[in-house]
This record gives sequence, C-alpha cells and structure tokens, in this order.
Amino acid sequence: MIGRPVSFECDATLYDDLVRLRHDLHREPELGLDLPRTQEKVLAALNPLPLELATGRALSSVTAVLRGRDRSVSGGGPSVLLRADMDALPLTERSGVPYASRLDGAMHACGHDLHTAMLVGAARLLSEARESLRGDVVFMFQPGEEGFHGARHMIEEGVLEAAGERPVAAYALHVASALLPRGWFLGRRGPLLAAGDALHVSVRGVGGHDSQPQRARDPVPAACEMVLSLNTFAMRAFDVYDRVLLSVGSIHAGTAANIIPAEAELRIGVRSLSPEARARALTGIPAVLQGVAAAHGVEVEVEHAMGYPVTRNDAAEVELAERVVEEAIGGQRFIWSPAVLTASEDFSFVLDEVPGAMLFLGACPPDRDLATAGFNHNADAAFDDEVLRDGAVLLASLARRRLDAAAGGG
Ligand SMILES: [Zn+2]
Ligand SMILES: [Zn+2]
Repeated sequence: MIGRPVSFECDATLYDDLVRLRHDLHREPELGLDLPRTQEKVLAALNPLPLELATGRALSSVTAVLRGRDRSVSGGGPSVLLRADMDALPLTERSGVPYASRLDGAMHACGHDLHTAMLVGAARLLSEARESLRGDVVFMFQPGEEGFHGARHMIEEGVLEAAGERPVAAYALHVASALLPRGWFLGRRGPLLAAGDALHVSVRGVGGHDSQPQRARDPVPAACEMVLSLNTFAMRAFDVYDRVLLSVGSIHAGTAANIIPAEAELRIGVRSLSPEARARALTGIPAVLQGVAAAHGVEVEVEHAMGYPVTRNDAAEVELAERVVEEAIGGQRFIWSPAVLTASEDFSFVLDEVPGAMLFLGACPPDRDLATAGFNHNADAAFDDEVLRDGAVLLASLARRRLDAAAGGG
C-alpha cells in the first residue's frame, strides 16, 4: 500500500464549505419526497466533482457514483454505498440558532441537513483520493425518510445497481442532539433501531340525533374501547423481553355535542424490536379492532399507512466501523449500545438488501446540557456544526477501508 494516503482530513476550506451548505439547507427546509431546492443545492455542490450524477423520477433524490481508478487487485472493482437523508420535519423552529429556518412549519429538527453536508464532504474527500480507490462509491442522497419510504423508492429506482453490481456494504450516520456526547459514535451489532409502523383506522357507524341514540350506531364509544383494548393487547400479548410500544397518537370524531357522528378515526403508531413481535402486532391489532367493532355493531377498516422494518446492523460491518472510528477519528469515542433504540429508520430497507451499518453521532452543541437539550424532532433541537468534520472523514474512511478489504488488502 505504498503511497496510499493514511487518513482523510477535513481542512478549513472544506469545513467552511460544509458549514455554509449545511446552513443554506437549514434555512430552507423541505418536507417529504419532493425537495427541489435541496436537490439543486446538492447538485451544485457535487457538479465540480468527477461523479456520475443521476436524479430520481418519483422523488427528488440524487445518486452519485465515483469510479475508483486503482483496479490493480480486484479487476472489476466492488462498490460501497454511503447514504444521507435530506428531508425536514413539519415543525416551526425555536432552536434560536442564527441560521434558523425561514419557513414556518418546516425545520431540520432531525439533523438531516448535517447528513447531507457530511456526505457532500465525503464525496469531495473521496474524489481527491480517487486514484487510490480500489472500487466505486455510490452516494445516496435520499428524500422522504420521515415516514415517506424514500429509501424504498430509491431502491425501486435502482440505487443499489447504480455502480453496476450491488454494493458490498452500505453505511449511514445519524446525528443526535441529545442522545450522546458531542463527537461520540454509537453502534450496535444486530438490531439497532425498532421497526416503526403506522395504522390508519376508520370506525364506521350510523350517525344521528343525540336524543335518539337507539337509532344510531355510535362510533365514539367503540373507538374509545378500541384504544383501551389495544393497550391491553400491547401489555398482555408479548414476551416481556420483546415488547411493542403502541400509541394511539390521533383520535377524531364528530362536529358538535348534539350530533352522533357516523365515523371516527384513529391513527396508531407501533414500534417493535423484532420481526416476530412486529408480525404479531400487525396481525393482532386488526383482530382486536374487528372484535370490538363487532361488539358495538360498527364497521372498521384498517390501512397500513407506513412501515419501516427493524434497522439491523451486520456485526462484521459495525465492528469495521468501530475500528475506523478509532483509526480515522482517534480517541476512545465509540460506544456499544446495550439496547435497541426505539426510533425507526428507512435505511432499514437498504440494510435488508445489503450488509452494512448505521451509527449515531452525538452533536449536542457545547453551550447546551446533554440532559436537558431538546431531542431530535423537538422544535428547540440544535446540532453542532463541528461534527461535520468527523462525519465527512468517517464516511470517506469507511468507504475506502471497506473497498480495501473487498480487494483483499484488509
Ligand atoms: Zn427523524
Ligand atoms: Zn432522522
């Protein structure tokens, strides 16, 4: 490996560019699958680099492929995929940062603006090291992580075949505003994050005058009983070591005190930690709802509105990531999570197809207390720019290290 660069460095020029990009993204957050302004900014940042660029059809994604030049060992060349999500959340920002969102009702409260800037940083670092790369790198810039299945759409549009053969590994970072100290990485072998599902439930009865309940079929008491029965189901139907979290996050019915409504609606969120518990929840919940509906003489319809599987790290890939944190970032800054975290991620769709790992990176600003700082998805959540350095360097280092390993250079 004579002449191969030892490690990547995020110098002042690159760092300033990444901070500027991150602040630009932060000021103008976009939601869901359609992020035209975000896509424009990413394309502008990637355009000067020696990348093959493609944009999505059904969503405003960007896929960039960097072709490594050093084919001395592997011939064809394997590829590694690095992923950043780019979408924001429907919140009005109260973080107090000087580059706060200019738009009411949209905020980068999950730090995806940092993920996007870090991946641009990794693309720049790897482009400079292109001659020494023993394979290709796919950069996956994804809209619609927050409940819109953006990763699944990108897989359907071919992101895993962007470089030719499927990547040998896939990696992603997620920043946390309050989970762990700034600059610390957290990983886990096997399941890292819960599966997340959303069910939309319509309870249909017969409306009427509140003086004549016998002529109606009131969906309101049925819906209330459904909530209680679901909580009992969640408490009693699962192994204590493999529970689910079930919340009826939304319940709506009716317009006035003296009208029995014809319909009630429930929105149910479910988090589960294993495929078995998830399957049991997704079959058991409709069964409970049907039973309660039958008892009340109303009808119920259940729509599975959203579902992300368990995010599962490959043990060898996350162990490699731990070593790369040590080598490329230095210090003892890696924590093994003892438990599955109960958030969910659609990077799970990628990890169901390709072995890989997701790591968390602590980004709590130094002027905030980790114990009281706003968590991701809070209107007052803040993420420190400083972690852009480590994020970009780690992603670039992981890609190069994994390509070396695939080429037999370990
Ligand atoms: Zn989020
Ligand atoms: Zn997120």
